[in-house]
Amino acid sequence: MKGKIVLADTMGYCWGVRRTLEIIQRAGKPEEQIATIGDVIHNPQVVQRLRSAGVQTAESVDEAAYRGFRHVAITAHGASPERNRRAEEMGLTTVDTTCPLVTKVQRLAQKLVKQGYFIVVYGDADHPEVRGILGWADTSRAVAAKHVEDLPWNAQRGSEGSDGLTAPPRKVAVISQTTKIVDEFLSFARDLTDLVAREGGEIRICNTICAPTTERQNALERLATEVDAILVIGGRKSSNTARLAEVARGYGVESYHIESEADVDDDWLKHVRDIGITAGASTPDDVIERVIDDLAGRGFQRPSVHTWQAEFDLAHEPAY
Ligand code: SF4
Repeated sequence: MKGKIVLADTMGYCWGVRRTLEIIQRAGKPEEQIATIGDVIHNPQVVQRLRSAGVQTAESVDEAAYRGFRHVAITAHGASPERNRRAEEMGLTTVDTTCPLVTKVQRLAQKLVKQGYFIVVYGDADHPEVRGILGWADTSRAVAAKHVEDLPWNAQRGSEGSDGLTAPPRKVAVISQTTKIVDEFLSFARDLTDLVAREGGEIRICNTICAPTTERQNALERLATEVDAILVIGGRKSSNTARLAEVARGYGVESYHIESEADVDDDWLKHVRDIGITAGASTPDDVIERVIDDLAGRGFQRPSVHTWQAEFDLAHEPAY
């Protein structure tokens, strides 16, 4: 017998993504189209919807200019200052929708460079947010890494390491891509501390994972204690959604990453009484609603509470 549908108390669009979509939708017009540099968010339904509202996607500022756009938009992930300069050179106006929480990390990177730190950004080297932060740091003394083994240091101070590797710098600061898993960032920071402090260096750890990301991870942990299986809704290209499904499995609950209700497989639900739902930060509300409807159609009881957006107050974010 089927039980109830339980929703994570915080899930789906984060505050920064909602803000970006509002700004871009206001800027895009069918008669004067705007090109976002890269997908606004990693969700195919939203990208499709924006296209019909006059918002297209280009891979680069140069491509946007070549295709005849006069306006480009920087997405919530932000971009390096170089991209703004390039848009200006090409005579394009820029609509900057960088999430203010990403802007803070960019400013922090600049500040740490001025203070003489070598910066390690815990994150995916090819993610637009990480590339943007490194662009704002504007120095060869900054790298992205997901494991300390990715870093070019393994030697003791005053000696040469294997494969031409060197000793770690004397001052190292670690910051994080805003959407990473807190426990994984802490584990990376511990390994890095071990590497740097062992050679007498100074290390500064700055947790720049944003509050909405942390709230979603905490909500998932609570959800995992209440249900037999979890559906994690989000675009296939959304790495943050894929990670949520992995994290849920780590709590010992069977979890499935789905893009829409069409992906739900009857076999998954055979022995499930209560089913949980969460969604990545780039998943629109109506996609979540449709999955709820689909599960209700399969005999699960609808949730009594239908809200899942936590209030977020920018004023309570750390100033760095
Ligand atoms: S995940 Fe965080 S940093 Fe990224 S857009 Fe959302 S609120 Fe901003």
